[in-house]
Amino acid sequence: MKSEKLIFEKSQNNRKGVLPPEEQSFLTSPEKIFSQGLLRKHKLPLPCLSELDVIRHYTRLSQLNFSVDTHFYPLGSCTMKYNPKISEELSMLEEFKNIHPYQQEEDIQGILELMFNLEKILCEITGMHRFCLQPSAGAHGELTGMLIIGKYHRLKKHKKTKVLVPDSSHGTNPASASMCGYKVIEIKSNSEGLVDIDELNREMDDEVACLMLTNPNTLGLFEEKILDIKDIVHKKGGLLYYDGANLNALLGICKIRDMGFDVIHMNLHKTFSTPHGGGGPGAGPVGVTEELVEFLPVPLVEKNHNHFILNYKLKNSIGRVRSFYANIPVLVKAYSYILRLGKEGLKRVALYSVLNANYIREKLKSYYNVASPKPCMHEVVFSAIKQKQQGVSALDIAKKLIDEGIHPPTIYFPLIVQEALMIEPTETENKETLDYFIEIMIKIAKEAETSPENFKNYPKNTPVSRLDETQAARNPILKWQSPPLGD
Ligand SMILES: *Cc1c(COP(=O)(O)O)cnc(C)c1O
Repeated sequence: MKSEKLIFEKSQNNRKGVLPPEEQSFLTSPEKIFSQGLLRKHKLPLPCLSELDVIRHYTRLSQLNFSVDTHFYPLGSCTMKYNPKISEELSMLEEFKNIHPYQQEEDIQGILELMFNLEKILCEITGMHRFCLQPSAGAHGELTGMLIIGKYHRLKKHKKTKVLVPDSSHGTNPASASMCGYKVIEIKSNSEGLVDIDELNREMDDEVACLMLTNPNTLGLFEEKILDIKDIVHKKGGLLYYDGANLNALLGICKIRDMGFDVIHMNLHKTFSTPHGGGGPGAGPVGVTEELVEFLPVPLVEKNHNHFILNYKLKNSIGRVRSFYANIPVLVKAYSYILRLGKEGLKRVALYSVLNANYIREKLKSYYNVASPKPCMHEVVFSAIKQKQQGVSALDIAKKLIDEGIHPPTIYFPLIVQEALMIEPTETENKETLDYFIEIMIKIAKEAETSPENFKNYPKNTPVSRLDETQAARNPILKWQSPPLGD
């Protein structure tokens, strides 16, 4: 594929777009508008191009992207499902777009009602007593949850210094615990990839504030001993924190509260579908049991007769965790997604996402090692250890997939699986797409066996092939040193 030059390299002296007359004078005689002191001494080194040059440049760049709308995107743990366009449209309604958080309660009754209803639905789905909608992402929800747990223990005068996390946990779990001042203790997984109960018993003591758990865990496995785990943690006065990133697998099938969890966050952008490639936007509401409601961030949305109000009066609130109320458009999308699917639809999300992952698992398990002998839930983790011995790493496989028009899966996570390939197809993919992916993965396994040397040159069909990733991360060139451009 031909590479696209930088826009600065395409610049030609005196070439420019067409401007309406008023704007022309704005550019040619800025001194009529700004005082001398505010004017630049030197011209900005901006590239000079025609309107068509600019349109072609950015349109081409946009077409080099991978997206859920253009490619299969099985990025494990991230739940890159199709984002229904109706949710986008609804979140962009004038009535949502043009409200401002400084408006009075009476003037924003509509959005308060939506938040009130969404909270009720999240409670229904998870079995938790109340939710705070403020956190802007899963990691932010974890921090909020850990602050709640910390305050709860402090008020009870419990001496708590430690937080337990399984060795399969997402990096944000130990990070959130550590930001709240806890020592992080890692619990080893057993040979099946589940929490090792003996190890948990050994590490659990009176100083453990909580166990943070993802269920299904990051190997895509349901923690079958969850009720035993709950008893072990609760008996020593610890709480159970649920990382809801994998909730897609359990929607409408079981309630998180019934598994004994005290605090949970949900990743609305994952489970309830907001486009979130490239790091955002998100929402990570935090739900708690009745006993912990008094610690939630304020304000909470409540109903007084037929009026929705913002309640700031919580006895032991940890305070605010963001400005204003929440990442509103993400809430609107989640709400519309949930209403569109309804109770039965949400259940089908869970069933089909699990079916799709197991279909891939079964079809590929004789070509790639599976991380666990157990059937998976909504995602399947393979290990490319066999291919690595042939000279082809998980990274090489990911690069080859780009050539085949497939967004690479998550690789090298969870950390406990060597050469991990973490594949989450989601419920929104049809059988033909899954079959195409399977066919390509089999082709790759065969090529790894016969011609491993090929893989050092993949991807071939992209403008840029292999990057020096260390250099790119450590010494990024963020500033284009342009030659002097036309004045
Ligand atoms: C995505 C994810 C998180 C973090 O959520 P963000 O919304 O990206 O902050 C935490 N845990 C797991 C298992 C995840 O997949």
